[in-house]
Amino acid sequence: MNEKLRVAVAPGDGIGPEIMTAVLRILEAAEAPLDYETIEIGQAAYERGISSGIPPEAWDAIRQSGCLLKAPVTTPQGKGFKSVNVTIRKTLNLFANIRPCKAYSPCVASAHPGMNLVIVRENEEDLYAGIEHRQTPEVTQVLKLITRPGSENIVRYAFEYARAYGRRKVTCMTKDNIMKLTDGLFHQVFEEIAAEYPEIETEHQIIDIGAARLASSPELFDVVVTLNLYGDILSDIAAQQAGSIGFAASANIGHDFAMFEAVHGSAPDIAGKDVANPSGLLVAATQMLVHLGHGEIGQRIKNAWLCTLEDGIHTADIYREQLSREKVGTQHFADAVIERLGRAPRILEAVHYHDRPIRIERKPQPPVHKQLVGVDAFVCWDEAGRDPDLLGTRLAAAAPNGIALTLVTNRGVKVYPDGLPETFCTDHWRCRFKATGAELPYPTLLQLLQQLDEAGLEVIKTENLYTFDGQSGFSMGQGE
Ligand code: NAD
Repeated sequence: MNEKLRVAVAPGDGIGPEIMTAVLRILEAAEAPLDYETIEIGQAAYERGISSGIPPEAWDAIRQSGCLLKAPVTTPQGKGFKSVNVTIRKTLNLFANIRPCKAYSPCVASAHPGMNLVIVRENEEDLYAGIEHRQTPEVTQVLKLITRPGSENIVRYAFEYARAYGRRKVTCMTKDNIMKLTDGLFHQVFEEIAAEYPEIETEHQIIDIGAARLASSPELFDVVVTLNLYGDILSDIAAQQAGSIGFAASANIGHDFAMFEAVHGSAPDIAGKDVANPSGLLVAATQMLVHLGHGEIGQRIKNAWLCTLEDGIHTADIYREQLSREKVGTQHFADAVIERLGRAPRILEAVHYHDRPIRIERKPQPPVHKQLVGVDAFVCWDEAGRDPDLLGTRLAAAAPNGIALTLVTNRGVKVYPDGLPETFCTDHWRCRFKATGAELPYPTLLQLLQQLDEAGLEVIKTENLYTFDGQSGFSMGQGE
């Protein structure tokens, strides 16, 4: 590949410009075939009154290149300013967040010397869609959205990543023992896609015990793929266990765009002093090279960097009397990496990347037969001491022909028919009506809502109950 690829480069704020200079010097010395277009995002843009922190000309450059190497930016305190990261991630559909967490023991102090894992976090779905409602005086709700295409994208990316980086095992973490449909879909997609990668070992762990194991024995994990919220929590646990924040890198990947950055912030306390560790951004740059199909150059840089660490040439944040040989500044550290280009580490494990860019393709889904079989009507009701039997009787009486009340739950627990008096009830009731025949005609559903209203019952929302190819598309109530 001789053609130079264009990359947008954001020097950012605080220590950003210093570490970016160091990283670009290393990339150029390694002859990475890249053309850089420097863009201004962050503080300067915020000060120009651009609340997103990203001026239009920066967007143009990012969109034209498709790839952004980003140093940290300072997010101003106070309302009205949007995080640059969240904006870029959402605008460019960066569905995967990749966070490698590795210990570089014995050359750098670490509580978990054998740790070398990467968290592959779904970045767009789950509870982060931000769809929240207060439905009754007592009850609030957030929508957890998990989609098949979204799950396929992230799971396939995790396996392709494992292949590109020579990793052996992919662990999926969900809570599908409780959330059988949403987390269950993610787990199911994982099993389906895993079958296409027979050379990679796979396992599934329930997120609670999985997170506990990851905290206590991170060396047991290789690639971990998970949903957005769990991934958010796991990546912080893993980063904490790995040690120095100065090392951590993160990639945000979409189908057409990608952003690579250090995990740490702009560190205003040490800005301009030439003491910052450029490693996080450098590791992010090697991720970028693999992503762009220049794995061999990424490998040269990473191995030179590992040599620098094992030669005891350390920035102040990782300097330890017993382990380090020389305390260096940001640019001197970059010089040391450049001097070692072409060398392989002797103590730390050398990396091997290949030049095949990581790309994922979606497979078309066969059509599904969807059938309406009932409705969950959610009712706000706070009368008669919240007696479920009284509510159940009124609901049942309001149902038109063709549909019947089967169940009432409160916070998911069955309270009608045959509930227990001990169950605590809020003012928010899920009332399940099912078709008496094989299918529920939609006009019958509308008639039900009309009759509930006439019976003085306040429906605050409905969820249609469907089957898909004959399989139930809704969960059972506890005790149903
Ligand atoms: P920070 O990561 O900037 O700093 C935390 C501590 O770690 C500081 O003591 C700092 O000196 C040290 N540190 C961080 N990076 C280092 C490095 N490369 N080498 C040596 N030491 C390093 O976190 P913060 O102080 O909470 O945030 C500062 C600013 O950065 C805030 O405005 C915040 O919003 C922003 N921030 C940006 C990003 C990003 O752009 N991705 C991420 C996190 C925070």
